Order: sequence, then C-alpha cells, then structure tokens
Amino acid sequence: MSNSDYAAERLAAINSKIEQACLSAGRTLDDVRLIGASKKQSPDLITAFVKHGLKHLGENYLQEAVSKQEKLSNLNVEWHFIGQIQSNKTKTIAQHFNWVHGVDRLKIATRLASQNPRPENINVLVQLNPDSENSKGGVLLKDAATLCDQIAQIDGLKLHGFMMIPKPRENHNEQAAIFASAKQLLNETNQRYGLSMRHLSMGMSSDLSAAIEEGSTMVRVGTDLFGART
Ligand SMILES: *Cc1c(COP(=O)(O)O)cnc(C)c1O
Repeated sequence: MSNSDYAAERLAAINSKIEQACLSAGRTLDDVRLIGASKKQSPDLITAFVKHGLKHLGENYLQEAVSKQEKLSNLNVEWHFIGQIQSNKTKTIAQHFNWVHGVDRLKIATRLASQNPRPENINVLVQLNPDSENSKGGVLLKDAATLCDQIAQIDGLKLHGFMMIPKPRENHNEQAAIFASAKQLLNETNQRYGLSMRHLSMGMSSDLSAAIEEGSTMVRVGTDLFGART
C-alpha cells in the first residue's frame, strides 16, 4: 500500500475511534485535537499523514525533531514538544516548538520564556506525575496548582492546562479514574487562582477512549496512527 493510502486509512480509523469516544461522552469532535506522536517515523510517512489532514505533530527527542523539521519545513503544522525537558535544552525547544507539554518546574518555564525568540507566546502545559514515578517527569498532584499559579504570571508563555502519561492500567474504569482526577485538578486550580486553563493532553494508543471520555482535549497517538516505530 502507498504511504498516501495508508495514511488515509489510519487517519480515518483513529478519527472514528475519537468520534466514538466523543459520542459516548456527549462531547463534540472539535473538542479533541489529534497529535501525531511522530518520533522514529520517517519524514515521507509523516508528510503523507499531513497531506491527509493531520495538523499537529508531537516529538520527544530534540535532535531528531530538529532535523525532521528541516526536512518538513514546507508543511503547515503545529509542533509540540512532548518529551522530557532538560534545562540546557530549553533554548532549542523555545526556537522550534509552538507547544511544550512537559513543563514540570518553574526553572524550565522561566528559561523557555526568556529564550522565546518570537513575539507570540509559547503554549505550555504542566506535566503531572499521577503515579509518583521517579522514571517519569512531572510534578506531583499536590504541587501542581502552585506551579500553575507561578507559570501563569510569566510573560512570553501561555499556560493552557495539564499533560500526563499515567502508568498503563488494564481496566477501562481504572484508566478513566486517573484521567478524571486531572480534570478535577484543572477545575480546582482554575477556581483557586482565577485561571482559565482548558486543555488536558492525555490519552495515547492504549488509553485514548478513556481519556476522551474524561475530558482530554489533546490525544497523542503514535503506534496506533503511524504503525510500529522504526
Ligand atoms: C511515544 C509517545 C506517545 C505515543 O505513544 P503510542 O503508545 O505509540 O501511541 C504519546 N505521548 C508521549 C509523551 C510519547 O512519548
């Protein structure tokens, strides 16, 4: 099958999965953005998906992302950095991405803001670490609201909400419960600090439906969209 036919077929399949989840939650399709998690995928394949309507690309590894962006500079997409952020990489991230999902400490946010080369704000999400895993980035749930209050005051950034990568859970209800807790925290934080965050970046290939049912506005799908990583 050609890349073009393959892209059309996979996009139709994922969009229908998103639509089903929206329907069962009484939400509209417009509420949920599909971010293609394109790490380890070839520029040619990515191009085929974009030609068939994919508008957001998420990358984890900075070097790989920058070289890909050079090859794909003619594509009209928004770039999301979805990997872990080391503070010595913030300058390159600020230069190359419209959205940064993994902000989990104030230092990263202030560096991104001061290194933002464009007049537009960098869109940021605070990453939560709901399972308190040392191996993953993210702020503990109890510390998230304060961090949001601090980041919301920084010029050059626009804070939109939360991102998270919960541990895999077998059961749909367990998946749903952890996503629901992020939504609740978003509402509480908005109330407490007078913020108007409205985005939740949650849900990947294996837990997309549960995430959408609980309020996800951005799903980051890799394998289920593009296929196995090379
Ligand atoms: C790779 C990745 C994804 C996509 O994972 P799949 O299971 O392939 O859908 C989503 N989010 C992040 C942060 C990733 O690193």
